[in-house]
Amino acid sequence: MAKEDYYQLLGVDRNASDSEIKKKYRSLAMKFHPDRNRDDPDAEKKFKQIKEAYEVLSDQKKRAAYDQFGHAGVDASMGGGPGGFAGGESFSDIFGDVFGDIFGGGRRRSNVHRGSDLQYNLELTLEEAVAGTETKIRIPMMATCEECHGSGARKGSSPVTCGTCHGQGQVRMQQGFFSIQQTCPTCRGTGQQIKDPCRKCHGQGRVQEIKTLSVKVPAGVDTGDRIRLAGEGEPGEHGGPSGDLYVQIRVKEHAIFTRDGADLFCEVPISFPTACLGGELEVPTLNGKVKLKIPAETQTGKLFRLRGKGVKPVRGGPMGDLLCRVQVETPVHLTREQKDLLKKLAESLSGGGKHHSPQEHSWMDGVKNFFEKLTG
Ligand SMILES: [Zn+2]
Ligand SMILES: [Zn+2]
Repeated sequence: MAKEDYYQLLGVDRNASDSEIKKKYRSLAMKFHPDRNRDDPDAEKKFKQIKEAYEVLSDQKKRAAYDQFGHAGVDASMGGGPGGFAGGESFSDIFGDVFGDIFGGGRRRSNVHRGSDLQYNLELTLEEAVAGTETKIRIPMMATCEECHGSGARKGSSPVTCGTCHGQGQVRMQQGFFSIQQTCPTCRGTGQQIKDPCRKCHGQGRVQEIKTLSVKVPAGVDTGDRIRLAGEGEPGEHGGPSGDLYVQIRVKEHAIFTRDGADLFCEVPISFPTACLGGELEVPTLNGKVKLKIPAETQTGKLFRLRGKGVKPVRGGPMGDLLCRVQVETPVHLTREQKDLLKKLAESLSGGGKHHSPQEHSWMDGVKNFFEKLTG
């Protein structure tokens, strides 16, 4: 099951302060505390989720790792190394172990674990997203220790069979009437013990490393797209296969253009005389400037479509268009002479018996009809 976003769980936004997070957590924890909701099993689940979210967001290091890498950055399964992957036991781990062992019977756990999937949030400019790019990313991850090749045992020595569980990885415990099978506390389920641990990884078999990867971003990606790099996630434990790396794309806001699928959109201011008499403008596209013909008597808000000047979608399909919405600007800082000219223009427009204001004319008709209906 996909995990819910920690910020959403606590109902705070991503810039929330520590005290805001604390306040929200307290009120939610009170509301969903299992002692107050004895008949509602969902409340307990919710309570645990809230607690987990708070544990991450209240810890500066963990919060930074979560912001950068999402859940993959803070999951306890990451190995709990230093830096971004501060682990700690989450509720699900504790419960998972106990219940898994009770209900799972004598199931022997596999020692081989697939490495975790990682997520990297990549921000791109609109230009990069549209044209495609190649970029280097740096990812902290647990990598196989080169010194001991992942065994955890010091060079020249090898792990020995665990004396507590005799290599089974599990032990039986008597608790009252129950006999419970539990993960062996000595070897933590691996069935092996390292008498002489590797100096580099202290017997973990894995070390924290910063891995630099080159990511090819195809042209046309958009916010929400994900690039999967198979096998570039964390290496597995005890020779297990590596997880995958997911590069999550977010496109930054652009100063001029907004994007809607394959189409780009921008606003273009035009002067009052150009709107009246028509003219030609230069408008920007992502590949340089193009000319836009403004017909005479153009009204503000009119949308012009420049075909094929949008984005080629990453999943195929036709090239999008660039939509330019013109905005007629009211002249400012007028001189006395300019004001006089405008007054003359206004007099000229109101005489002569012609309608010069198309909107006003139909608007006035609408108002007239409205009042006629009212008076019946
Ligand atoms: Zn053992
Ligand atoms: Zn080592």
